[in-house]
Amino acid sequence: MYLHRMIYYSRNAIKELQKPIKAEVRSILDQSARNNPPLGITGALLFNGTFFAQILEGDRKAVTETFCRISNDPRHTDIVIMEMRPIDRRRFSDWCLAFAGHSDEIDQLYVKYGLTVSFNPAKMTARSLLEFVDELFEHDEYVTRPCTDHAAIAAAVRAARA
Ligand code: FAD
Repeated sequence: MYLHRMIYYSRNAIKELQKPIKAEVRSILDQSARNNPPLGITGALLFNGTFFAQILEGDRKAVTETFCRISNDPRHTDIVIMEMRPIDRRRFSDWCLAFAGHSDEIDQLYVKYGLTVSFNPAKMTARSLLEFVDELFEHDEYVTRPCTDHAAIAAAVRAARA
């Protein structure tokens, strides 16, 4: 296994498809929860209504295949890869979604990371995005963990090693 991390951001295009945003984000969550653990993919998806930003960790082949599938999805557009690099260890033990909304604490985070109004990955580096995610994840109310199937993730990792 060649452990890699990919980070990209994109613009939400669900509105243009004239589909309900909540249902489509739910469907992305379900698809990711179904597909990512068997592939040994962990990471996080951030969403704020305007932008998606996603961190995918796992074997480089699995990460590449997953990203290729995601990049063809009409629910987002203007995809920008921020980072694709080998890593020594994972930062995420499962896969989750975080909503980068507004509260006094979260707004302070935006100020801290140089974001004047709201979450905007186009104004961040890969490193600052990772640090932002670490701090955002301290606020459990913003994070949904649909797949804490660590056994499936471990099985996929063992299969990739064989
Ligand atoms: P689907 O069309 O969902 O399903 C294909 C087949 O799976 C079906 O024919 C059926 O046999 C089976 N199936 C469907 N539903 C169920 C069910 N409930 N139970 C059992 N079997 C079922 N996708 C990911 O996989 N991982 C990600 O991390 C990810 N991140 C995304 C991030 C963004 C910003 C966006 C816009 C999309 C993301 N997606 C992600 C979705 C991705 O783009 C594809 O739409 C998705 O991977 C396709 O999943 P699928 O091949 O299972 O196809």
